[in-house]
Amino acid sequence: LEDLSLEEQKSVVKVGDVAVGGDELTVMAGPCAVESREQLMKAARQVKKSGGQILRGGAFKPRTSPHSFQGLKEQGLKYLAEAREETGLKIVTELLDSTDIELVNQYTDILQIGSRNMQNYGLLKKLGELDTPVMLKRGYAATIKEWLLAAEYVISHGNPNVILCERGIRTFETATRYTMDLNAIALIKEKTNLPVIVDPSHGTGKRSLVGPLAKAGISVGADGVMMEVHPNPEEALCDGQQSLTLDGYDQLMKELSAVAEIS
Ligand code: PEP
Ligand code: MN
Repeated sequence: LEDLSLEEQKSVVKVGDVAVGGDELTVMAGPCAVESREQLMKAARQVKKSGGQILRGGAFKPRTSPHSFQGLKEQGLKYLAEAREETGLKIVTELLDSTDIELVNQYTDILQIGSRNMQNYGLLKKLGELDTPVMLKRGYAATIKEWLLAAEYVISHGNPNVILCERGIRTFETATRYTMDLNAIALIKEKTNLPVIVDPSHGTGKRSLVGPLAKAGISVGADGVMMEVHPNPEEALCDGQQSLTLDGYDQLMKELSAVAEIS
């Protein structure tokens, strides 16, 4: 990693009045996908009440099967904007395609680039022309160096507001959905100033493991946690098995507050 520059990177990325990468832990939580106004509002109110800062929710979903729910698209973005209005939470939502940059950028506070788009260099260059913070998730088969070079695409094209998110990588292990790479978090905190978020929901694929791996991520240096939360995970259109219930999220937030200062 010695030849990486990442010179203009920000060590603290400001999302309005929320600082990602400062002394305090940032919590991003919400459903995998925005499914309805009611579903999103229930989740958003709980995220706020238990002490989160940023509401997540996909309006454009990168599904492995083209027959799976693809997201509510602009309607989903409108629900996110409504939730922000009511709760004061900031929004992070995924941008899937260059053609939707303007649309998604109008509604969100952080543009999420998903695992499957981490090496979409055309998209990364375009993100460099904005100043909206970008949360770059790790490609599930990307090395740490490839991931940092992807971040460098955005930064070197003019946008220093990059937040990394470790979301698990594919290994030979199949008992969990992916394998959380805690080494990566510790190494990146050692070698760069970039803020790093841990996503134990996708990293494990299993609700009961979200708490333990959130704590593990924090203890190796993560600046924040991203968690999926759903008012009724059994009926979720996406990633229900790894989504916390509202009560489960509240309980976990109490546990996280005991190990970290949450801003
Ligand atoms: C997500 O955050 O819902 C998501 C699709 O994540 P990833 O890109 O890490 O699979
Ligand atoms: Mn998901």
